[in-house]
Amino acid sequence: MNEISNHMPTSELQRLDAAHHLHPFTAHGPLSEKGVRVITGAEGTWLRDSEGRRILDGMAGLWCVNIGYGRAELAEAAYRQMKELPYYNTFFQTTHVPAIALATRIAELAPGDLNHVFFASSGSEANDTNLRLVRHYWARKGQPERQVIIARKNAYHGSSMGSASLGGMAAMHAQGGLPIPGIHHIDQPDWWGEGGEMTPEEFGRARARQLEEAIREIGPDKVGAFIAEPVQGAGGVIIPPESYWPEIMRIVQEYGILLIADEVICGFGRTGEWFGAQSYGITPDIMTIAKGLSSGYQPIGGSIVSDEIAATIAGDEFFHGYTYSGHPVACAVALENLRLLDEEGIVTRVRESTAPYLAEKWATLADHPLVGEAATRGLLGTMALTPDKARRAKFAADPGTVGLICREHCFAVDLVMRHVGDRMVISPPLVITEAEIDELVTRARRALDATLESVE
Ligand code: PLP
Repeated sequence: MNEISNHMPTSELQRLDAAHHLHPFTAHGPLSEKGVRVITGAEGTWLRDSEGRRILDGMAGLWCVNIGYGRAELAEAAYRQMKELPYYNTFFQTTHVPAIALATRIAELAPGDLNHVFFASSGSEANDTNLRLVRHYWARKGQPERQVIIARKNAYHGSSMGSASLGGMAAMHAQGGLPIPGIHHIDQPDWWGEGGEMTPEEFGRARARQLEEAIREIGPDKVGAFIAEPVQGAGGVIIPPESYWPEIMRIVQEYGILLIADEVICGFGRTGEWFGAQSYGITPDIMTIAKGLSSGYQPIGGSIVSDEIAATIAGDEFFHGYTYSGHPVACAVALENLRLLDEEGIVTRVRESTAPYLAEKWATLADHPLVGEAATRGLLGTMALTPDKARRAKFAADPGTVGLICREHCFAVDLVMRHVGDRMVISPPLVITEAEIDELVTRARRALDATLESVE
């Protein structure tokens, strides 16, 4: 067999891919008819494909390449660590320097008393850890009946049985008998889509109060935790009204339940602070991290927990862990990524200049006939497509049909934007420049024009 490489014709790579590769979140029938796009390289905010096209990556891969592509320092950190100690585990009272150094650095960056990190290799694994950790914590506190975790509809917390159950994606639950018992879902704070006649502030409070209603219905002594992203990402970049989080904080404190902030997307600079919780004044007991922790250069995630949780579970063994918890190469790369994000002032730059610039330019898209809402928070952007913006109306076609058409038109202009139903979302690398933001918005408008033609 010929060596499979970037030099093979695209059609041959596509044929082999269709023959042997099962993709995540993909319908394979249509895929093999059309052929996949083969990505061969990347630099900064730009991808290259096997046809030689340069593509503006408005999604930082899967919301993760915060530092941008092509940073040799991260490759060198991996190489150095692989030569020194490619693997050792952190079970049974052993450790190694990369895990110590990364946990220490994360504890420095994390707000409040979130000083302890349990490592995993992904956000899904970290959220599975959280599920078990919350139940273990309450058992140690002498309240083992506090089993229920409240989460939100349309949230994405991962793909494992536990994390997909925490998530509120109906299509995922429909496959394989999810959610598992003990998970309860309340509505998301999507004012544009679901706010009706309420003002955003009224709606934010009303949606937060669903948490209180759920706690009362289930029984306050049975609820262990509430999990949510500061800004719901894969659910459509749902930016909550300003009234939402203060009310959630009041409720979790009043009922004494743990708050898990899933920072897998919001963490590591995405909202202009190190963590989304800091942007919204949230004080979580646990934070889920992954993605931007290593900018996607290595698979690594984790759960950061408070002093109180760490002290409570310290007494006996937590029967939980992954072979790659605290993998030394992943830790070394993550540490280098955090160093660069900090020393190059990337998070500060997002807060002080890139995010305000994106907010201004993205908002100009709101005058397009198809766009109902065009909003940003940090370097997250969302755009609700609508046939009638005055009524905040939905399209007659199945939800997602027009969003999918728009995504295809984005591909045609070499822009990666993702659709979530009939919303278009962006989450570019944090190193995106103002000129690249201009280019992104110009291409987005061309894709919207083409979408309008397609749906008229
Ligand atoms: N949590 C959130 C908020 C996410 O967006 C994701 C992935 O998109 C996950 C968890 C799962 O992370 P992973 O894909 O690394 O398992």
